[in-house]
Amino acid sequence: MLSFVIPAKNEEDSVEILYKEIERVSNEVKKEYEIIFVDDGSTDSTFETLKKLQSRDKKIKIIRHRGNWGKSIALQNGFDKARGDIIFTLDADLQDNPADIPDFLKKLDEGYDLVSGWKKKRLDPQFGKVIPSRIVNFLARTLTGVKIHDTNCGFKAYRREVIKNLNLYGELYRFIPIIAAKQNFKVGEVPVTHRPRKFGKTKF
Ligand code: UDP
Ligand code: MG
Repeated sequence: MLSFVIPAKNEEDSVEILYKEIERVSNEVKKEYEIIFVDDGSTDSTFETLKKLQSRDKKIKIIRHRGNWGKSIALQNGFDKARGDIIFTLDADLQDNPADIPDFLKKLDEGYDLVSGWKKKRLDPQFGKVIPSRIVNFLARTLTGVKIHDTNCGFKAYRREVIKNLNLYGELYRFIPIIAAKQNFKVGEVPVTHRPRKFGKTKF
């Protein structure tokens, strides 16, 4: 079974489209699944939209934070509820493309415990995001020895044992591949097709 954990803060225009994309791909790969949306203190209609989807499909679970507690707590609360043997995380804003899910599954089958997405062609503002991210990733690689290009990518797939050993808070969500590698899990990466943000705006 697959669990999808999706943190969402003010993503009202994206969550339904994302839900449909995940449903289609999960059916294609013939896996049972659940989708756990974590509403991280949205002030738009994200929660109401999710409730509406849930009334049609019980595979949708919703966790609602009373405030904006941040991405680490959102992921951790989602992980605590996840029942799958394989857990995916994706951003809610449609920048991650569920069509890449089979590539992650293939890599897990090769024996990896955590597969992290690598936004090879990142479709975000060059100076605000792409260059700072290259610097952070270069430092993370050289300081830790963990050879990952894009440690902060929101699109990842985990074997259950990996999430059981995580305790995320603060900014830790940015360094999950490094934490897992230091715990001797086998960490790999797959290139993903990043999409430009279509609705809403970045929170970082
Ligand atoms: N997000 C969240 N809580 C926050 C900030 C962001 O749940 O405090 C979610 C957001 O809704 C999105 C994901 O985390 O699903 C990544 O955020 P964003 O797309 O704004 O980051 P970027 O892609 O611009 O780095
Ligand atoms: Mg984004």
